[in-house]
This record gives sequence, C-alpha cells and structure tokens, in this order.
Amino acid sequence: MSRVIVQKYGGTSVASPARIWRVSRRIAESVRSGHPVVAVVSAMGHTTDRLIDLARRVSPAPSARELDMLTANGETITAPLVAMCLQAMGVPAISLTGLQAGVRTSGHHSKARIREIETQRIRAELDAGRVCVVAGFQGVTESMEITTLGRGGSDTTAVALAAALGAPSCEIYTDVDGIYSADPRVVARARKIAHISYEEMLELAAVGAKVLHPRAVELGELYGVEIHVRSSFKKGVGTMIVAQVPMEDRNRVRGVAHESNVAKITVRGVPDRPGVAAALFEPLGAASISVDVIVQNVGLTGATDITFTVDEGELAQAVALVQEANRQIGAVEVLSSGGLAKLSIVGTGMLGTPGIAARMFRTLAENRINIEMISTSEIRITCLVDRARAADGVRALHTAFELDVK
Ligand code: ASP
Ligand code: MG
Repeated sequence: MSRVIVQKYGGTSVASPARIWRVSRRIAESVRSGHPVVAVVSAMGHTTDRLIDLARRVSPAPSARELDMLTANGETITAPLVAMCLQAMGVPAISLTGLQAGVRTSGHHSKARIREIETQRIRAELDAGRVCVVAGFQGVTESMEITTLGRGGSDTTAVALAAALGAPSCEIYTDVDGIYSADPRVVARARKIAHISYEEMLELAAVGAKVLHPRAVELGELYGVEIHVRSSFKKGVGTMIVAQVPMEDRNRVRGVAHESNVAKITVRGVPDRPGVAAALFEPLGAASISVDVIVQNVGLTGATDITFTVDEGELAQAVALVQEANRQIGAVEVLSSGGLAKLSIVGTGMLGTPGIAARMFRTLAENRINIEMISTSEIRITCLVDRARAADGVRALHTAFELDVK
C-alpha cells in the first residue's frame, strides 16, 4: 500500500453542515493525490461539553463508565456525517467507530490509554479504495467496554493511527494555523513557528499552549510521526512538530506561554521528616488534581513550608484535601490564594546558554512585575506572577527574547 495520509479535524472544523462540506472537500483533494486517506474526526463544535452538561443535570456524580458511553457519541455522530458527505461528492468512504477501527485501550474510563490498534479492518477498507472516517477520542477495552481518551483526545487517536499504519506524518487540522511564539490574542507581534521539537511542544503544552493533546505529541516522538498542525480554514503550511529543528530556526527561546487560572496553597510549619510531602500530595493525586510548581523551603528549625500551585477551578477541593491530610501531619496552617498566572519561556537552545534566567527576571523587574515562585526544567523557566500583570509580562518577555515579528 502506498503511504497512508492521516488527517485529524477538530470540533470547530466540523461544527456545522457547511463546515463538514468544507472538510470533506479537503479530504477529497487529498484522495486525488492518489494516497489512501484516513480522516479522524472530533465531535461537532461544543457537543462534548453539552453532553457532559446533560449528564450533570440528571446526576450529581455520573459514573465514569456511563459518561464514556455518553460522550463517545459526539464523535460517533461526526464520522458518518463526513462519510455521507464524501459519498455525496462521489468519493468512496466509510465511517468507523473506535471499536471498528481497532482502537484497543486500557480500562481507565475518561482517561484511557491506547494499548494497540488492530489495523486489519482499516487496511481492508483502504485497499478497497475507501476513505476511512474514524471517530476520534474513543476506544474499547478487551471486555468491549467503551472508553474515551480524555478531553482533546482525538489528536491522540490520529497520531496513534498514523504510527500503526506506518505513516511518516499526521496532519492536525484545527482553528488556528499553527503554533505561535505566544498567544496571538495577547501578543500582536507573535510569530508562527515553522518547526518545533516534540520536547519543546510538550513543555509549551504543559504551561498553557493548548493547541494539541500532549499525549499525541508523546506518541509522535515515540514512533517518529511528524505532526503538522495547520488550519482547516486557510490554505498554507502550519507548524511541523519534529525531532530535529532545522538550524536557522533555532532561537534560544522559542516561545512564551502563559496560563491564567493559577492558585497557590501554602502549608506552613510542616514537620521536617520523611513521608510528609507524600502524605500531602497523595490525596491530591488520588482525586486527579494536578499539582504544579512546588517549592519547599530549607527546614532550619525542624519545620518547613511547602507551597504549590493548582488550577484555580480546583482550589477549593484541593484545600479541603490538604486540610484533611494535615490532621495526620500537624502543620501549623494551610493558606491559599488565587489570582495568579504562570509565565514561561521555552526552548531547547536554553541548554548550555547562560544568562537566560537572569534576562527573564530582569525583564520582569523592569516592568515592575513581582515574581512569587519560580520553577524550571532543562528547557523551560516558569515564573508565577499576579494575574493582572500576566499579559504585560508575556509581551515584555516576547520582546526581550527577540521573538517579535519585525
Ligand atoms: N470531543 C472531545 C473533546 O471535546 C475530543 C476531541 O475533540 O479531541 O474533548
Ligand atoms: Mg482539540
């Protein structure tokens, strides 16, 4: 079989019949290139949100299994609509659910992981000259239970299919035309990035760039599938996510990301002994609350302070869990506050380039933006700041690291 083209169309791209026509015309064009085509589709527009909202109206705490049974239907609706549309254009096509497409997953409802993809059916359809329109986001366990991969999971379906079908790349069609050096709604002079490494993309996604499902990027890296993020509305190339960025594209800092809904919790006077941090964070993990920047002071007096951040939407629940855990730990007090934002700079070129952190701190200082917490990885520096100053901070950093489009 010649090289398979795998494309993914996000919810906005298939939000209406007119848009489904547009997407189908795109798919038809790819078919004309002579390659077999697999198109993975998301639920139309805000369908998934609406389904979750419906569930909450009939039950205060719907079970994860039933939620998956419900939300998987969003994608199950889009796939046949796109297939019908293609057929109406004279393009042979067939829609497939996750089950029919052979997507086998773990049993973790609402956050299942793809274990393997049995590609026989898809290959047979492609061999018969049909476009496969696959419902993204959903899969099935060994015992035939329907699962979903987590919000935004259709990206992961697409990259996993590309890997399983031996496709060298996967095209993600979305409502933006690529990955930008900063959010273009905040930074007017943000630039579209031509190439970015998997590593950089993962870091950017972790600190606020929400274009792609991070697990899709991980899979791309693992299986060597290049990911092309591009617009379903505009022609032209978008951003390639690759292993090696071409030399001319290498800026030390590739992007400035920000995330606005950040809150912090400080546990003061924590006894300085083994097991305390574990006891604090385990209940948060069990409740699927992700904890981010963590700072622990050096304990000089037998006690220490631990501060960490959570999503502001999860603050109340997190505080309750920490207070509960504190009954065993016996720290002095639990303090919390919202209204924060995270500003991050990311780039593999930071490795071995001294002075990047200093430049970030100096830039914020010159703009009279106070830094509350700092965290780093090898290729990222993050500062927690007052939310009201976040946009100013992003713009200042974008300029300071010479990212502004001329
Ligand atoms: N429809 C799902 C969601 O809204 C999956 C996806 O669009 O990728 O999260
Ligand atoms: Mg998405």
